[in-house]
Amino acid sequence: PPKSMGEMVTESASAHPDAIMIDFMGRKFTYADMFAQIRRIACGLQAMGVRKGDRVGLYLPNTPHYVAAYYGALMTGAIVVNFSPLYTAAELEHQVEDSGTKILFTLSAKALLPTALEVLDNSTLEKLVVGTVAEMLSPVKSLLFRWFKASESAPIPDDPRVLHYDRLTANPGDCAVAEIDPVNDIALLQYTGGTTGTPKGAMLTHQNLTANARQAQSIDPHQNEADRIIAVLPFFHVFANTVTLNRTVVNGGEMVMLPRFDAAQVLAAVQRVKATSLPGVPTMFQALLDHPAIRNIDFSCLRACISGGAPLPLELKQRFEAATGAQLIEGYGLTETSPIVCTNPYEGLNKSGTVGQPVPGTRVKLVDREDPTKPPPEGEPGELLFAGPQVMKGYWNRPDADAEVFMGEYVRTGDVGIIDEDGYVKIVDRLKDMISVGGFKVFPSQVEQVLYHHPAIKEALVIGVPDRYRGEQPKAFVTLNEGFDIDGAALKDWLNPQLGKHERVCEVEVRLNLPRTLVGKLSRKELVAEERAKAD
Ligand code: ATP
Repeated sequence: PPKSMGEMVTESASAHPDAIMIDFMGRKFTYADMFAQIRRIACGLQAMGVRKGDRVGLYLPNTPHYVAAYYGALMTGAIVVNFSPLYTAAELEHQVEDSGTKILFTLSAKALLPTALEVLDNSTLEKLVVGTVAEMLSPVKSLLFRWFKASESAPIPDDPRVLHYDRLTANPGDCAVAEIDPVNDIALLQYTGGTTGTPKGAMLTHQNLTANARQAQSIDPHQNEADRIIAVLPFFHVFANTVTLNRTVVNGGEMVMLPRFDAAQVLAAVQRVKATSLPGVPTMFQALLDHPAIRNIDFSCLRACISGGAPLPLELKQRFEAATGAQLIEGYGLTETSPIVCTNPYEGLNKSGTVGQPVPGTRVKLVDREDPTKPPPEGEPGELLFAGPQVMKGYWNRPDADAEVFMGEYVRTGDVGIIDEDGYVKIVDRLKDMISVGGFKVFPSQVEQVLYHHPAIKEALVIGVPDRYRGEQPKAFVTLNEGFDIDGAALKDWLNPQLGKHERVCEVEVRLNLPRTLVGKLSRKELVAEERAKAD
C-alpha cells in the first residue's frame, strides 16, 4: 500500500532504533536520536503555524540538519522545496517566489547565510531557521572541518524573522502530526532546469518518493542495517535524495555524510568506515580514479557503487571496477520520475553500456522521435516514455508544461533510446540537447564521441550556438589530457572531415575546465547561456 514519508521514517526508526543512521565527521546519530529530532522539528514547525501544503525550503548541504528538517517538515504535511546550496541570491529568490516558500532552513555559513538574508529582505520569504555546525559536532571537530573552514561561519543577526535551529528542536515533540494522503499529497517540489527556459518544479508525492525508495532496493538486494553508504552526492538533488537518503532509511543503514566532494576525503571516508556502497555521478568516479590515494585504500567491503545522472563511459566503468574490485552499477532516471526508472542489478547481468532494466512496477514505451503518438520505425531508436508509481503528479503551476510532458499515464523523458533483446535500455541521445542546424537535427553526443577518439582530449561538450543563416551551429568545448598541447584550430581540422555536413563545428575551444552542475555532471546549460550572452 502507498506510504507517506512520515510513515516510512517512523517504521524504520521503530524497527532499528539503535542502528546508526548518520556518521557526521565521526559523530554518530542513531535512528532513535534522529527520529526524536525529526519529531521536535515537526512539532516546532506546527507551533510556528506551518500547516499542510505550506512550502518549507531547504537551503542546506549534507549535514544532519538536512535529514531532520526534511522528514520533520514532511511530517507536518508541508511541501519541501529543495534549493541548491550553490544558488546565487537571484536564483534563490526566483525559486522562493515561484514555489511560494515561506520558511527556509539554512546554516550559519558564510557561503549560505548572507545570501539567505538578502532573499529574506527582498522576497515573500517570511522566516529563516538557521543551524550551526557546532550543534552537530564538537568544537574541535568543527574547526577541523574543511568545508566550513573554507566558508567560515557568519553571525546570526538578532532579527525576529530569524530563528535558531536549536530553538525549534527545543520543542518537546509530542504533538499530533498531520494526516497524509500519500497518493495525492505533494511531498517535494524538485526544480529541474532543462537547457532552456525557466526552471520548473516537479511535484513529487509522498507515494512517488516512498515507492521509488522501495524500487531502488532492486539495485542491491543485500542492503541491510549493517550497510554504510557514503552520502557525498548532495541531498537537494533528487538522485541522492532517493538513492542515498530514502533507500538507506528503508533498510536502517548508515549514511556517512560529507557536505562537499573532495576525492581525498571521500577515499578516506571509504577507508575509515569500510563503506559498502558509494552512489555518485560519472565525473565523481573519474575524480576518485585519478587520485593517487586510490591505490592505498582497502575496498574489500565495498559492494555496489551506483552511477547515475549522466552516461557512464565504458572505459571508466572497467577501470574503476579493476581498481576497487567493487561493481559499478549504472542506473537511469530523471527528476520527473523521483528519479529511478531503470537500473542494472548487483546480482545478475550488469550490462555495460546500458542503464539496465525498468525497476519493479515500471512500464516503458518507445515512441517515434518526431511523432510521439506513433511507434518508431522497426529497429530504430525512439523517445523513452515511462509509467509507474514514481511518475510525478505534474509541474507546479505549469499546466502548459504538463500538456507537453504527459501522454496518458506515461511521462516523456526527452531521451532517445533502444531496448535490447534482454529488455535492457540503452540511452542513445537527448532530444533536450538536440541542435537544429538549418532544420537538420544534430545530436551533440555524436560529435562528442568523435572528439573522445583524439588522444589529447579529456572532456568534450558540444552545444548549438546562434548562427545568422542556419539558426544554430555546433561548437565544441574541450579540456586536454595532461602533457598535451594542441590548439582549437588543429582540433577542428582533425574533427570536421570526420563529420557529416551539418555536424561540422564552427569552432573548437580549448579550456582548462568545463562547467559542472553541483552534482558534478558536465553542464551544457552554462555554456549555452555564455554563448547566448555573447551573441546578444
Ligand atoms: P536539468 O535539471 O538542467 O533539466 P537534466 O536535464 O540533466 O538537467 P535531471 O532530471 O537532473 O535533468 O537529469 C535527468 C537526465 O539525465 C535524463 O533525462 C538523462 O538525459 C540524463 N541521465 C540520467 N542518467 C543517465 C544515464 N545513466 N545515462 C545517460 N543519461 C542519463
